[in-house]
Amino acid sequence: MAEGEKGVQPAAVDRRCTTKYVFVSGGVASSLGKGIISASLGKLLQNRGFRVTIQKLDPYINIDPGTLNPYEHGECYVTEDGAETDLDLGHYERFLNQPTSRQNSVTTGQIYQSVIHKERRGEYLGKTVQVIPHVTDEIKRRIMLLGSKGQYDVVITEIGGTVGDIESLPYIEAVRQLKWDLGEGNTVFIHLTLVPYLNASGELKTKPTQHSVKELLENGIQPDVLVLRTEHALSADLRKKVALFCNVQPENVVESIDVPTIYEVPLRMRAERLDMAVLRKLQLPVESAPELVVWKSFLDRFYHPKHTVRIALVGKYVELADAYKSIHESLIHGGAANRCRVECTSISSEKLDASTAPVLLQGFDGILVAPGFGHRGIEGKLEAIRYAREQGIPFLGICLGMQCSVVEFARHVLGIADASSREWVRATTEPVIDLMENQKGVTELGGTMRLGAYPCELTPGSRAAEAYGTLQISERHRHRYEFNDSYLDRFNAAGMVATGRNPATNLVEVVEIPAHPWFVGVQFHPEYKSTVVSPHPLFVAFVRASMQKRKKVAE
Ligand code: GLN
Repeated sequence: MAEGEKGVQPAAVDRRCTTKYVFVSGGVASSLGKGIISASLGKLLQNRGFRVTIQKLDPYINIDPGTLNPYEHGECYVTEDGAETDLDLGHYERFLNQPTSRQNSVTTGQIYQSVIHKERRGEYLGKTVQVIPHVTDEIKRRIMLLGSKGQYDVVITEIGGTVGDIESLPYIEAVRQLKWDLGEGNTVFIHLTLVPYLNASGELKTKPTQHSVKELLENGIQPDVLVLRTEHALSADLRKKVALFCNVQPENVVESIDVPTIYEVPLRMRAERLDMAVLRKLQLPVESAPELVVWKSFLDRFYHPKHTVRIALVGKYVELADAYKSIHESLIHGGAANRCRVECTSISSEKLDASTAPVLLQGFDGILVAPGFGHRGIEGKLEAIRYAREQGIPFLGICLGMQCSVVEFARHVLGIADASSREWVRATTEPVIDLMENQKGVTELGGTMRLGAYPCELTPGSRAAEAYGTLQISERHRHRYEFNDSYLDRFNAAGMVATGRNPATNLVEVVEIPAHPWFVGVQFHPEYKSTVVSPHPLFVAFVRASMQKRKKVAE
């Protein structure tokens, strides 16, 4: 179903209409939540029966964020087709409940790479290659590509960065041109700004917004809709003032007030009629919209939990919550599915050793060990896993977290003291986790991991099979190392079993300890596929197991 809400019939839409384009930019400050506004608008349009997709334009020169340290830009999100992308794509998928693809993520690096390749092939026929028109044309091509197959009624394009940045200028210029190319009624430009509140005078200030719009005007763009991020409700007068000074219709000035959860934003945007403002501008039918039934029931479960669990998230990028964005969101989804409040505490793996782990991890109902790269913080992860395994605390290990659980088991249960991963000790004599065969000749770092969705077959009766309710699954990957099959018999005999395998390569994708209350390590990243409408079964099961653990302790 197009609109992604089970059981809700989308309104009939005239499919003859050509694809319409929505542009979302930001001003005044960064981190105002353009991604959430884009995703919320997408959700509202989808709920009205429109086929929507959301794209992100990122102004950095990296080809993709795959090689970026998570401290730079937060988590690297992976799509079904194996693109390493900005974490905003995660919001798009979680809100729309539909996958994105490589085409939904564009960076300045990719734009320049195509232009330069084209130049080398001689395709510019001797012309001087310039930002305008060659770079802007490539940007326009990338934006239009998503709409070109008739798959979508509306393409929402979020322009990363803040208006006024040097890096985003080519994007703004490309969009200015597209607005003219596509003509009236086919595009709408939304600008998100901040209306700061001055405590001393008790006033909301609109001047930064006026300046930001002026900046856009200097670049030839008159925004159609203004979304004002604010800590306090905006009065009718203030809206009128902004409308007057920024040349927009008063009904197109939309308030985006701080809310307790990002999942509240679609409802706020609906109440503010953002979707209607957009539809009017796009000359699409503005009828009354169906209720967001599934969405509201999720929020109801989120706001009114009957249970609570405490989960420890052990990783090495814990200072920045965005580094594990999808994991945090998946825990929220899994919690709501169980009517359970998940209190997630991030714990730096570097703080954990044999003596601190039992102290710092005491009282948690579940332990999740995060994905990651390199050797830093590994010993702490192993200690966290040992504690979870020995104390019978529900454990979910994701990618590196799964690999660590294999090494921990090898060292402390199989007695292989030197067991390690080839990633941490190149010359290890006991590589229970080894480099994948087809990674051996790989020298370049960018985009060369095993990336994207692969099928996996689960063992009947396993915890994973129980959680999924099926034996055939598909999950997304991002790794170079794998479980070393030559050790499998020894693991099996000692009680750690492989319960998920890739049907083509036989690669181990899931390990479990059946004698433990709930101990599951997965080579893939379930967090990329959890959405509000379809919470991920492993997170649902992990939260449930943690609830059971808590109940048992209480008894
Ligand atoms: N560093 C590990 C590997 O490359 C795990 C990667 C991850 O956790 N995403 O296999």
